[in-house]
Amino acid sequence: MVNKLSRRVFLSGGTAVTVVGISQLVTSCGNNNDNASNDTQNPAPTPVTGEVNLYSSRHYNTDTELYNGFTDETGIKVNLIEGSADELIERITSEGDNTQADVFMTVDVARLWRAQEAEIFAPTSSPTLEERIPASLRNPEGLWFGFTRRARVIMYNQENVNPEELSTYEDLADPKWKGRIIIRPSSNIYNQSLVASLIEIHGEEKTEEWVKGFVANFAREPQSNDTGQIKDVAAGVADITLANTYYLARMAKDDDPAIKEVVEKVKIFFPNQDDRGSHVNISGAGVVKNAPNPENAVKFLEYLSSDTAQEFFAKGNNEYPVVEGVGIDPVLESFGTFKADDTNIATFGPNLATAVQVMNRGGWK
Ligand code: FE
Repeated sequence: MVNKLSRRVFLSGGTAVTVVGISQLVTSCGNNNDNASNDTQNPAPTPVTGEVNLYSSRHYNTDTELYNGFTDETGIKVNLIEGSADELIERITSEGDNTQADVFMTVDVARLWRAQEAEIFAPTSSPTLEERIPASLRNPEGLWFGFTRRARVIMYNQENVNPEELSTYEDLADPKWKGRIIIRPSSNIYNQSLVASLIEIHGEEKTEEWVKGFVANFAREPQSNDTGQIKDVAAGVADITLANTYYLARMAKDDDPAIKEVVEKVKIFFPNQDDRGSHVNISGAGVVKNAPNPENAVKFLEYLSSDTAQEFFAKGNNEYPVVEGVGIDPVLESFGTFKADDTNIATFGPNLATAVQVMNRGGWK
């Protein structure tokens, strides 16, 4: 069990974020007594020779273990500062030259774009990162790098849909799907990134046409989250939805009989396998401009691209690694292999504002 020594820090706007000094984490060998004096059972800690301050909106317990691995390997202590992406961007911006942030990490390229627009990143040149991370999953100037992938795919009720009916995202605007589709609102960042990708591929006009056809097929007004859509597809509210792969993977590991029933009914279909491939997004990170420890920041990112870290980091949220050949979770393996769209996801950011307008005009609530 991990005992997090955390404290609450208040931002200028009054928002709280949690600060965890990872190097101070205590392993209490399965007992809840924080004062247990079992130090003699623990190996001598690696001497700390530096630190890196990670501002992250991604937080899973397994990530914490991973950061400890970095300290063991390099002697560099990881100070984790958690908060929402927008809070952290605001904090880094307001701290300016005096920021303590070395690395900013978040999920979804739309949030990395916001950070990029706020000019918080410094360009990073690292042969390791450039070699390990596919060019389509990182910013061309090295402002940020993708470290895990998630696909936003079709999930369907196998009692009501013959997978042979399914083909592409584009096809979901066909009237044959009338009253058969549910999806979360257009305010959701995953949907905005997907539409931004369609704009990159088809242009604004065609994408707006697609949105109109897609919305005309909705079984109800958009509501809830990805998990909610998956449950409702299982319940027969509609036949298909679009959701991120890790949500179904997470549910597949749930012991709750009701969730097990959902997972038995809902299957994944990877769209656009005969053309560009399925839409993928990332969780990613970049080195902060004005970082007090820029070299440690680069080392940290390089560590995240190592095979061991990739496998561990991806499994922490049932995601796909970005590095080719790294092992994936058995549940993801059970979904089958797929071709991912290799349009550079850095192109989605500049289309995001248009994506929101297109969704509004197309009636996607
Ligand atoms: Fe999510």
